Amino acid sequence: MRKKIVAGNWKMNLNFDEGQKLTSEIVNMLKDENVKDVSVVLNPPFPHLYPVKKLIGDTPNLYLGSQNCSDKASGAYTGETSAGMLASFGAKFVILGHSERREYFKESNELLTAKTKQALENGLTPIFCCGEPLEIREAGTHEAYVTQQLTESLFGFSPEEMSKIVIAYEPIWAIGTGKTASSEQAQEMHAAIRKHLGSKFGQELANNISILYGGSCNPSNAQEIFSKPDVDGGLIGGASLKSRDFVEIVKSF
Ligand code: PEP
Repeated sequence: MRKKIVAGNWKMNLNFDEGQKLTSEIVNMLKDENVKDVSVVLNPPFPHLYPVKKLIGDTPNLYLGSQNCSDKASGAYTGETSAGMLASFGAKFVILGHSERREYFKESNELLTAKTKQALENGLTPIFCCGEPLEIREAGTHEAYVTQQLTESLFGFSPEEMSKIVIAYEPIWAIGTGKTASSEQAQEMHAAIRKHLGSKFGQELANNISILYGGSCNPSNAQEIFSKPDVDGGLIGGASLKSRDFVEIVKSF
């Protein structure tokens, strides 16, 4: 059985008090809800990580994730944060390859391989993002574009390593735009991604990999998107900043 996962990506939002308030609200709401078969992940910016972890405490099925980690293990890399540091205080997930990092920080598939390796070596679950820009979707070459991203960054890993990676399909034209992919578009790409992973790592392994959808997911569309057979949850940006909306999405399976 594949894991169902809903991960909130706060991006570069919220000051300390706002982050504490949001986390406390989510912790309290999740305690009242029966969502035991869904793993919920909060991915705040670095300064929030440890205090958010404290608030999460032992809340069942609620985990801490980072939005990034270094491709290096340690050393003179001013401004960087290693996967080992994140794991040392209880982070369990790390988002890698988000389109904003690919675009604004010029993160290449090669760099993302190194970051993924660091995450895996330190016991973090990478939430590995892929997705096409609008012009690629309009040209009809989105499947080739996304499968190439995955080939270049992940196909050097062993099946055992690959089995620990979560994929997030995030069409760039749907991120933060209010324009969601239709559930059919999401299903089509998730099935293509799973088939592609299967071509390298075997279909059985691919069938056990969670593939999340990301891109303007909200409480009104989550249920429809999550109902598709190859969609195993969501990576949520804007709607993860509102506790009620985020928890409604968690309840959408
Ligand atoms: C994201 O940043 O991963 C994302 C999906 O953002 P939004 O939900 O705001 O589109």
